[in-house]
Amino acid sequence: MLKAPRRSQVFDLPIHLCDDYVAWLQSRWQQNLGTHVVTLNSEMAMQAERQPELAAAIRQADLVIPDGAGVIFYLRLRQQRQQRCPGIELASALIEAAGQQSLAEPIAFYGGAPGIAERAAAVWQKRYPHLRLLAFHGYLSAEEAAALEQTLQAEQPRLILVGLGVPRQELWIAQHRRLCPGATWIGIGGSFDIWAGVKSRAPAWWCEHNLEWLYRLYQEPWRWRRMSVLPQFALRALVTAYTPNRRYSSDPPA
Ligand code: UDP
Repeated sequence: MLKAPRRSQVFDLPIHLCDDYVAWLQSRWQQNLGTHVVTLNSEMAMQAERQPELAAAIRQADLVIPDGAGVIFYLRLRQQRQQRCPGIELASALIEAAGQQSLAEPIAFYGGAPGIAERAAAVWQKRYPHLRLLAFHGYLSAEEAAALEQTLQAEQPRLILVGLGVPRQELWIAQHRRLCPGATWIGIGGSFDIWAGVKSRAPAWWCEHNLEWLYRLYQEPWRWRRMSVLPQFALRALVTAYTPNRRYSSDPPA
């Protein structure tokens, strides 16, 4: 029996600590349990301070994973050891697991500029020809969005990857997850752009030195405004790291 991820906190937001998120999510698949996964980084944590609806979506998620180095830094300050789990790596590992198990249900890709999710799906299709992949871009008209909902309901994909950016993807998943109650839903930001080959991830050296954010800034300088909250995150992390975690009514007794 797999141990459920342990719940901790980053500021007032939940974070789940676990050695093997992929195995835990696969065990949820086997039990037909739906899961909303949030991939938390420091930018998102700061954004949630200003957007209560984003904070609510994160709190309602079943699994919040540490996507960013800032979150790991925060946990380390609290003596909590956890390996970073970037959302794109979790999503890739789940597609690989589905490919190796010859999953019967389809996998849905939703998001990105027109053509991007299709290109990303084609890349995966080449690796796993027997997987069924559904792809929809992230700029649908009202009619197309209604058609997407109908397709999801009819096809019941097992894995639904949503790349609409933060907070759009978290809010969309929270509103639509009832359509496929047994699915794993993950907000994956710009991962389709990376799989499609139109953007690249930071080379390993940058990731190993916790500088992925700097590489993104170099690739997409318009991010400076969003990233200007990072020093604020670091400062707050230092100040709050030594205050005890708040307890939630849903937490098991201490
Ligand atoms: N996007 C989309 N629909 C929209 C707005 C954005 O599909 O209405 C896509 C955009 O094309 C990009 C992704 O959302 O592929 C956002 O990627 P980013 O790396 O900016 O995500 P974040 O940093 O918010 O995780």
